[in-house]
Amino acid sequence: MNLSKTYEFWFVTGSQHLYGPEVLKQVNDDSVNMVNGLNEQGQFGYKIVFKDVLKTPDEITALVKEANNTENCAGVIGWMHTFSPAKMWITGLSILNKPFMHLHTQFNRDIPWDSIDMDFMNLNQSAHGGREFGFINTRLRLPRKVVVGYWESEKVQQQIRKFMNVAVTISESKCLKIARFGDNMRYVAVTEGDKVEAEIKLGWQVHGYGVGDLVEYVEKVTEDEVEALYKEYQNEYNIVETSDHSVNSIKYQAKLEIAIERFLNDGGFTAFTTTFEDLHGLKQLPGLSVQRLMGKGYGFAGEGDWKTAGFVRLTKIMGRFGDKGTSFMEDYTYHLEPDNEMVLGAHMLEVCPSISNQKPNIIVNPLGIGDREDPARFTFSCKTGPALNASIIDMGGRMRLIINEVDAVKVPQEMPKLPVAQAMWKPQPSLEEAAMAWILAGGAHHTVFSLDVTAEELLDFAEFLDLETVLINKDTNMKTFRQDLKLSDVLWNLKG
Ligand code: MN
Repeated sequence: MNLSKTYEFWFVTGSQHLYGPEVLKQVNDDSVNMVNGLNEQGQFGYKIVFKDVLKTPDEITALVKEANNTENCAGVIGWMHTFSPAKMWITGLSILNKPFMHLHTQFNRDIPWDSIDMDFMNLNQSAHGGREFGFINTRLRLPRKVVVGYWESEKVQQQIRKFMNVAVTISESKCLKIARFGDNMRYVAVTEGDKVEAEIKLGWQVHGYGVGDLVEYVEKVTEDEVEALYKEYQNEYNIVETSDHSVNSIKYQAKLEIAIERFLNDGGFTAFTTTFEDLHGLKQLPGLSVQRLMGKGYGFAGEGDWKTAGFVRLTKIMGRFGDKGTSFMEDYTYHLEPDNEMVLGAHMLEVCPSISNQKPNIIVNPLGIGDREDPARFTFSCKTGPALNASIIDMGGRMRLIINEVDAVKVPQEMPKLPVAQAMWKPQPSLEEAAMAWILAGGAHHTVFSLDVTAEELLDFAEFLDLETVLINKDTNMKTFRQDLKLSDVLWNLKG
């Protein structure tokens, strides 16, 4: 998956001159060793760069300005090895515009029982230095991630990985461009939204195009290009039928894939929407083509739903080191068997093959809506395991992010007549409570479905960007949930 740049994270250590050059040299050496160790052990996907031991307000402010103006710096990690009087940090932290992580750790894991003396105590002061630092962050209302524990532990390194995933996603959100082919599906409410608010809060540029702009690209795709891509399909997937009708339909989707990708790349777009109500000049609703593009990392949602399209792209970035996948999804049909309630998720066509548990099939089947030729599409079943659905809605004046943790399960029986890719899940805490909570919170029928991203990462993402969040999971209690929704509404109305 292509990102707009190669990201790195900056690591700074707080201290002061009081300790003298010898101790400060030790602080510097320990910081270098810690950063080297983290880079070697952490499997982070992004490099941590040690910048400096900061000892004065001017040094701190200068470093923050440099971080702000360095495009590939995705975030800053701060550690208080010693005590750094926190008024020194006010000016710098006040202007910091990158996601910040406070790593509350210490260089040594254990107290050296036999040798510990006051020199050791004065060198290793995270326990109180981190508290002084935490106060000023809180006083400044600085959104940040606090990670606590020994830096070589897997748990701490996993937290750093998650922070990095979120910070990079935020950086990519700030330069995300979404192309819309056609407008929203007529009369649909939840796919609407305030694009100005989205650009202010999330940085998204959302641009509309007539589908004719895409048709021009479709017409320019050559037969050789189509044949080459069809060969790729033959190698990678099970093409179920090879009648002329079927092959022609698949080749038309290959043409659409090439055209849409070219259009997106020419305009710097990494997410897009289509709508079956505006297909003038297209022979089929984009199906297989959209699925392939989602598989390559583009964000997508149907019926003009640009909020979900943008969020699919961002969730794919957040989960890019996972191996289970992220897709556009829709709660489609329920299985309401007592004690075995489940949701069947799918869409008309457009489910991402990254979540497939098998080599996808390509089939061609009539589509009841859209009034076009039979579109080719992938069919497959989904991987299983912990997953989530997330939805961004516009509450009028603010965005709300709703997350439901679910367990993706194996489809209990084959569904031989269902011509779409599908996922099946059991929502937490139960279908009844989860659906009730989702509906009370105003969650959409369109979601991002991910097996790679955790609720913690999405909540951190929202914290950094000041979005309202609603979490539905195994701990949800309907009585307090309803109360929390009301309190949240009052709080966010006050904030607005
Ligand atoms: Mn839909």
